[in-house]
Order: sequence, then C-alpha cells, then structure tokens
Amino acid sequence: MSRLFDLVRRFARATRPVDPESAAMLRERWRALPEQVRTPAQALGQHAMGCEGTHGVFPRCNLACTPCYHSRDANRVRVDGSHTVRQVRAQMRLLRQRRGPHAHAQLIGGEVSLLPPDDHAAALLAMRAEGREPMSMSHGDFDADYLAALALDANGLQRLPRVSFAGHFDMLMFGRRGIERPPDERSLNPYRRRFADMFAALRHDHRIPYFIAHNMTVTPRNLDQIAGVVRDCHDYGFGLFSFQPAAFVGDERRWHEDYRESTADDVWAQIEAGAGARLPFRALQIGDERCNRTTYGFYVGDRYFPILDDEQPADLRTRDVFFRYLGGIDFVGTLPPVLAVKLLRIVIRHPSVAVTFAAWAARMLHRVGVRHLLRHRRIRPVTFVMHSFMDAADVAPAWEAMQRGETSTEPRILATQQRLRACSYAMAHPETGELVPACVQHSVLDPAENVALRRVLPLLPVVSSRTAR
Ligand code: SF4
Repeated sequence: MSRLFDLVRRFARATRPVDPESAAMLRERWRALPEQVRTPAQALGQHAMGCEGTHGVFPRCNLACTPCYHSRDANRVRVDGSHTVRQVRAQMRLLRQRRGPHAHAQLIGGEVSLLPPDDHAAALLAMRAEGREPMSMSHGDFDADYLAALALDANGLQRLPRVSFAGHFDMLMFGRRGIERPPDERSLNPYRRRFADMFAALRHDHRIPYFIAHNMTVTPRNLDQIAGVVRDCHDYGFGLFSFQPAAFVGDERRWHEDYRESTADDVWAQIEAGAGARLPFRALQIGDERCNRTTYGFYVGDRYFPILDDEQPADLRTRDVFFRYLGGIDFVGTLPPVLAVKLLRIVIRHPSVAVTFAAWAARMLHRVGVRHLLRHRRIRPVTFVMHSFMDAADVAPAWEAMQRGETSTEPRILATQQRLRACSYAMAHPETGELVPACVQHSVLDPAENVALRRVLPLLPVVSSRTAR
C-alpha cells in the first residue's frame, strides 16, 4: 500500500505543470528585470530564464570572419577536449545553481567541430546532465562523417537524445572549403543545403532527431541579400533563422565597414521581405527590444504565418493565458507523455485554457485557409530572430560603472546599461560565481581570458631550454 502511495506521489510530482524551483527562479528573474521591460509581452520571468552560452572552452576557429567577435588571441589557443569538457561542466553547474533546472544553452566558442567528436559529445552530455538543452554553434564546414561520429558511439548506437546545431553562413566569412571567398550570399546556398541535408540523412539513417538553425551576420555589404537568403532557404530544414547585425566588438583588425549605416528596422524589413509577411515581434519579447526581436510562426507551402499578431487583441489575450497558466513549462526537455499529463492537469483545473487555445487554433486555421492547408498538408515551424550585440566601446564603460553600482547619465551608456540589465544571454564564471551578459564577455572579459588560455593551452609544444640545447 505504501509503495502504491509512493508511486502516486512520484507521478504527481513528475507531472506538476511547473517545477517549484523553476517557478521560484522565474519570480526572482521577473523581479530583477528593469521596469521598462516588465511588459505583458516579456518572456523572461514569465516563461523562461533566458539563453546561456559557454566561453573560453574552445576559442579557436579555422575560418576568418569580418567582423569576428573573438579577441585576437583566440586563435592562438589550442583546442583541448579535456579542458573543454571540464570547463563546460563547471560553467553548466553554476548555471544550474543560479538559473534553475531547465534552459537552452549554446556550446559556443571558436569552431565546435574542431573538437574531437568524443569530446564534443561529452561536452553536450555534460550540459544535458545539468538540465541544459544544448546547441552546438558551428560554421557548418564539416562532413557527415563528423556528425555521425558525434551522434553515435563506437558501437554505432545513438549517444545523444537529439542533435542541435546552429550553422553560421554568410559571405563575410572566408576560408570555407570549396568557396574560400564567397562573392555573394546566393553562392553559399549549396553549402547551406549540404549542411541541412547532413542532418536529414542522419535522421533517415539512424532515426536521430535534430534541430538546426541558420545564423548570419549582417553588415551594409550583405543587407540587401537577406531577403534572398530567406526566400531561397526557408524550406531547407532550418527551424530558426537568426540575423546578427554586426557590432564593433572582438578583433578590431577585422572591422572593415561602418556597421552603423543600417538600422535594426532595415534588417527586419529585409527579413520580412524574404518571409513575404509582416513579422510581428511585439507579441513576445525576450529581454530588451533593442537586443532581440523574435517572431514564432510556420510555413505552409511558401507562405509564412506568425502564431501571434501583435495587432490582434485576441492573440495578445492568448499570449497572456499562455504565460499565466503554461509559463515555465519545459516544452522541449519533457517527454511527450509527461508533457501531455501536465497539460491535462492544467486544463482540468482551468478549462478556460482549452477554450482560449481552441479559439486561437480556429483563428490560425482561418488565416491559413483550409484549402491552402489541404493543398500543402504540411506545417513547418520556423522562427525568425534578430540579435543585436552592442559595441565594445559602449559596453566597457557601461559595465565598469555598473560594477561600481553607478547608473550613467550619458544617454548612450545609460541605454547600454538598461540592455545589459535586461540581458537574455548569460555566460557563467565558476571562479567568481558570477553570470555576465555575453556582450560583457566578448567586449570586456574575452581578451584577458584568451591571453591566460594561451599560456595554459599553447598552440605549439613548449620546448624546455634543456631539451633545446
Ligand atoms: S545585452 Fe548583449 S548579449 Fe545580452 S541580450 Fe543584449 S545584445 Fe545580447
């Protein structure tokens, strides 16, 4: 009897819609956000803690980008798998303590595929062990053999529950095999396709689920080619297209243009032109609007449909219901049967939730059109994101003042501080117990960190004076 009671109690705990620790951390996250971003649209603190990334775990890269966010010493640090896994574990442990049991985290640094596949897999498993849903950030210039060696163990068995990669492709990157200096964005499409096809083949051959994102840096040189990239590549298999307007951060030898010639609105207008639809980004906000714009939606055939329209009050009410009753649920990391029970428990307690979402589904069906849906029979979820890093010249003084507890009166630095306080992208420092915004990491901390790493992980073996003699 007591065993049965124990079983029921464990089942009830496992199917609680939101983990109590997560709920408490979300409340604290909301409380700590600056007033101006605590809006009904804000996902931080209402649904998620934000995104996380690694640093100093494999700084080296074998392509050259203009611009490059990494400091000039990054390429002088040897890739060392055991260092990577050790550091990733320590950073994730701190993120687990400070940000709760679930989050999305990027395995990011230089080029992730320079890691031996076993070390890469070990780093991903270390992230998962701390409740992180990992994504490997790559330039995408690796082969299917590498991907298979990452996803499968020595016996050919699946060792990762799913693989998740962001492939960075743009004409500002030099040294890609087969296209060392891309003349334009379109010429990279076969490489984008090849990258996406590797994952489709992995799923086909080994039934390994995957998610892939497409990343692209934007400068005045490739701005007007964004629409073409979205139009040409939207059905390659990418679940997310992320555009990063270039900032003056990292290695200044690689700053070749005036990145401030184009605005966030210019970039977003191009993405919209490519999607062939208005992309409402004010229904859901992640951190500060000056940092992030996001539109969730899906394609049916060649037409794109955002799931929430920020000009439709009924959609905004649906969002509010989502945050109120479903906010904090770990949709990605929860097994589908467990997730189904969680949702059922919510609906039993709050039947109006089901009514709200049924009405939303009916509105979506109306927007898509039954005939259009029946003709294509397939819904492809795709998210559009724009993430705008800040210039190091602004971040450094803003962060220094924040460390002294000062709020700047200089408008530009004040704006930087506001964005840093609402940052959605954190990096962990186990040595101090501190979490810092990625902008601070790249603008302020990376240079010294990479100088120190050069000593620990030199590129060439150190020859002692005795041996040399
Ligand atoms: S502060 Fe920097 S790292 Fe954080 S969300 Fe804004 S742009 Fe991104």
